[in-house]
Amino acid sequence: MLPSFEKNNMYHIFISAATIILLSAASCKKSSTTSSGNNSSNAAVPEVYKKIYGATSISTDGNFITIKVDGVPDHKSIYYPVGNALYENFSGTTFKGTAFSKNPNSIASQYYTFKIPANPTEASTKQATPLGPIGVSINGVPFFNQYAGPNQPLTGEIMSFDQGWGHPAPGNIYHYHVEPLYLTNVKVGKSGLLGFLLDGFPVYGPVENGNPVTNANLDAYHGHKHVTTEYPGGIYHYHITDADPYINGNGFFGTPGTVSR
Ligand SMILES: [Zn+2]
Ligand SMILES: [Zn+2]
Repeated sequence: MLPSFEKNNMYHIFISAATIILLSAASCKKSSTTSSGNNSSNAAVPEVYKKIYGATSISTDGNFITIKVDGVPDHKSIYYPVGNALYENFSGTTFKGTAFSKNPNSIASQYYTFKIPANPTEASTKQATPLGPIGVSINGVPFFNQYAGPNQPLTGEIMSFDQGWGHPAPGNIYHYHVEPLYLTNVKVGKSGLLGFLLDGFPVYGPVENGNPVTNANLDAYHGHKHVTTEYPGGIYHYHITDADPYINGNGFFGTPGTVSR
């Protein structure tokens, strides 16, 4: 018969072992919930989305990333009201050497909520991009598609692109149809991650491995798949090129999420 203090010790050892097993089981369960992307109010926002430095908030339920932005550029523009710290006059030529001609709109906050898939996959049926926001750039300004109106080319709009190659639509809705020049010249370089389309796939700049990306390097949706700095396992991604359709081609490669204003 063991002395009573030894029996107590055995009891404590048993309890401690049981506690460790229970704690291990709990932590396994927690990590598997997080990595499987199930609905979980405390799922962590993946690092890559923190590159959207213009966001006022970014959150996730594990299935969708919710990105809130005010939609205004962090660079100088002739479209800011005179007196705004970011107002700067602009003249001469803009995108593709086009003579600049200011449109009558200006820049105002829009407060968008973008909700994009956290784990984007190819859609079996591709959807055309709508007019209006089709994605969000890292400074919070929306991307628009290659049309000025239903199936109308951008030709008549390019002249009104400002020093950042963006412009405001009626309603003072600022946006980019082409390369966001401040982001590629100042913030992340010509090969950097520039944002995401509504289907959750990332958008990269017009240069890759030191060479300009052309439309011939891309598929009908204006993307292709390979390893990138942010996605070492490889991912489908769009590239912005200097020729029409610029950002997206025949529609979303994946299934688009939503945007509300
Ligand atoms: Zn436009
Ligand atoms: Zn690429």
